[in-house]
Amino acid sequence: LRERPQEELPFFTEQVRIATRNLGVIDPLSIDEYIARDGYFALHKVLFEIGIDDVIEILRKSELKGRGGAGFPTWMKWDFTKKAEGDTKYVICNADEGDPGAFMDRAVLEGDPHSIVEAMTIAARVVGAQKGFVYVRAEYPLAIERLTHAMKMAREYGFLGENILGTDFSFDLEIRIGAGAFVCGEETALINSIEGKRGIPRVKPPFPANKGLWQKPTLLNNVETFANIPPIINNGGEWFSQFGVEGSRGTKVFALAGNVKNTGLVEVPMGITLRKLIFEIGGGVPGGKKLKAIQTGGPSGGCIPLELIDTPITYDNMKKLGTIIGSGGMIVMDEDSCMVDVAKYFLEFTVEESCGQCTPCRDGTRRMLEILERITSGEGTMEDLQLLKDLGENIMATSLCGLGQTAPQPVISTMRYFWNEYEAHVKDGRCPAKKCKSLTRV
Ligand code: SF4
Repeated sequence: LRERPQEELPFFTEQVRIATRNLGVIDPLSIDEYIARDGYFALHKVLFEIGIDDVIEILRKSELKGRGGAGFPTWMKWDFTKKAEGDTKYVICNADEGDPGAFMDRAVLEGDPHSIVEAMTIAARVVGAQKGFVYVRAEYPLAIERLTHAMKMAREYGFLGENILGTDFSFDLEIRIGAGAFVCGEETALINSIEGKRGIPRVKPPFPANKGLWQKPTLLNNVETFANIPPIINNGGEWFSQFGVEGSRGTKVFALAGNVKNTGLVEVPMGITLRKLIFEIGGGVPGGKKLKAIQTGGPSGGCIPLELIDTPITYDNMKKLGTIIGSGGMIVMDEDSCMVDVAKYFLEFTVEESCGQCTPCRDGTRRMLEILERITSGEGTMEDLQLLKDLGENIMATSLCGLGQTAPQPVISTMRYFWNEYEAHVKDGRCPAKKCKSLTRV
């Protein structure tokens, strides 16, 4: 990256930084530097220039969808919560980022905490909330420190607390620290955790927009979604939707990791092809190796093989390929990677993180892992492969929450694209991949 000037490098020129606009640009401890970059202008606009229905309309035109993984239209969530009956309402920011390899929420909270304070205050004004919570994982102490400082400064400047900017609107924030359970990233488990209960998902419906925190209407968005709100309000919905493609508008932050030269966070327009992301922005695979697959969406996602690298990254395309965009984790694997090992790694993760509340996820994922262990130790049978597939499909169809509904995805997708590798483990007791951790190479 240091060989050529920044303005010539695709790593920089192909990025469109909206959610990450201030990262590395401002001092995160300085509210003045945030204001100098149009910070709190959107809040001022919402309080004095436009109505709350105008905000919903701007969000509708922006076509922003939730960036935490589910991809639900943001304007709808805001509208549902606004219309929900009740005098007491809450706004929650989900900063319980748990996907292995994803750290965009952490980067925003550490590098631009005011953007979250501002966006949550705007959200509160729109839906009619008086109180908000930021649920941050305990593994992010610097993010907690910077956010705490940002909240203190925002109160001093009149952007948070009683009578914001001299109006009759009051709203304040509190931080809640998660205890490290992956399932608490699921919105209803997170709500239970804030309430002081065990962090396990609730049955939906009712949805949080109607009955969320302490059974009150609650708006819940993740960090990246909130980070997009102030620039969208400042520049308009059409401005945001000019980026991206039909059905997937705006930009998305991806965390490039694994066998790729330029690792780290990149923010690019949706609809960019995987090839451009991995080879132009990411600089390709190091050591002259061939790309084998890309894992997207962490433990809830799947693998995309080299042959499909020209696919534009959209919500629909990823679904068709048997994966998800998720929170934006993107793990690049070279030709030496064993795809059965990869599937096993993610399944071990979900087995560990299953809350145990429902049988398909609690017991089913364990049975899947046992089968995978047989396969990777050279003791699997062809019947095991079929059982693995059937079990995975059943778990996905019958689990209570998103964790179980997607847990088999890494296995199902690697079986779909790399069946020959599974077969080699079973039939030959060997793996063709150099980096296979369990079986000797042919
Ligand atoms: Fe818990 Fe898994 Fe059931 Fe979700 S699917 S409620 S994580 S056991």
